[in-house]
Amino acid sequence: MKKVYLDYAATTPTHPEVVKAMLPYFTEAFGNPSSIYSCGQQAKGAIEEARVKVADLIGARDEEIVFTSSGTESDNFAIKGVAFTKDIKGNHLITSPIEHDAVLETCKFLERRGFSVTYLPVDKYGLVDPGDVKKAITTKTILISVMHANNEMGTVEPIAEIGKIAKEAGIYFHIDAVQTVGHIPISVDELGMDLLSISAHKLYGPKGVGALFIKKGTKLVSFMHGGEQERGRRASTYNVPGIIGFGRAAELARQEMSEEAERLTPLRDKLINSLLERIEYTRLNGHPQQRLPNNVNISIDFVEGESMCLSLDLEGICASTGSACATSSLEPSHVLLATGLSPERAYGSLRFTLGKWTTEEEIDQVLEVLPRIVAKLRAMSPLLKNH
Ligand code: PLP
Repeated sequence: MKKVYLDYAATTPTHPEVVKAMLPYFTEAFGNPSSIYSCGQQAKGAIEEARVKVADLIGARDEEIVFTSSGTESDNFAIKGVAFTKDIKGNHLITSPIEHDAVLETCKFLERRGFSVTYLPVDKYGLVDPGDVKKAITTKTILISVMHANNEMGTVEPIAEIGKIAKEAGIYFHIDAVQTVGHIPISVDELGMDLLSISAHKLYGPKGVGALFIKKGTKLVSFMHGGEQERGRRASTYNVPGIIGFGRAAELARQEMSEEAERLTPLRDKLINSLLERIEYTRLNGHPQQRLPNNVNISIDFVEGESMCLSLDLEGICASTGSACATSSLEPSHVLLATGLSPERAYGSLRFTLGKWTTEEEIDQVLEVLPRIVAKLRAMSPLLKNH
């Protein structure tokens, strides 16, 4: 059975070109970049080249990129880094209820330590209203953190408008851009943020490497203490192959991103429209237009997402019920609940995320298989009978 992978938002396969770029750094050029002899310095040089490539992808300067171990670390670094900066006046943060747990759990951690956090409302599509951001600002506000695009339902937030509000108020602005960097164009100057989180494995790079963009002049406390790596901002021996792979992935994304988005958008729309047409009692989650070019998230009534996922897996199709991190949890998605969806509908949600190797045949395969699965599950479901 041919596998159909439609969970690119959970992770992407590492691009063969990326693997090729990484390989020499496991063997010939294995030196520690902090060593002064040539094989260390060769690795150091390659890291600096990778830094330029990552910076170029978001229109930043290379010295504004700090390599981390993941998107999660970047989110933690940005939020705790601002919160614990000594001369920052205030203890209030603003965020949204649809953030990834890397942001939400960090905020909860800070709340337990005396910080207060405003969770902005979102509309039925998951959009934050910039007017609500403005209203939430107090004299104590130190940080606004809103994601660029939501990982579950693909809604793209009005970041430039929020950035303008943050700038006018003189408050630091962080965006979690883990789902957007390498997929839609980003210019840190145009979007107006001070901090931006990236994760390599979401853009065909390796797992276990990420970056935090820190705008020049932003005051931020480091929380990895040790050596002088990353100019003292983040200690620990460099993940050399990972960083080199990240750089190559960023370079490829820059070249291929717009073509890729153009190719995926009609495939996404075909999948959305045909599923809504072919299966009764379904609805699209997330914004119909302001959404990532690769995201399909639908709620299918009277069936559970987990059952659909497992049945799809038996047919060789990998999809998800929500965020990758939530697959071990039986709670309905906090993201979908925040948009006003009932817990029953949230339980019946299914996410397909398309990517570089997705073909129209694969979309047709889902369209052939899923209505059959839903019909079978519904025939056994007491939920539909009681409807
Ligand atoms: N933020 C968002 C929006 C994500 O989708 C993810 C991963 O799914 C993360 C943060 C965490 O990134 P990482 O897997 O690199 O820790």
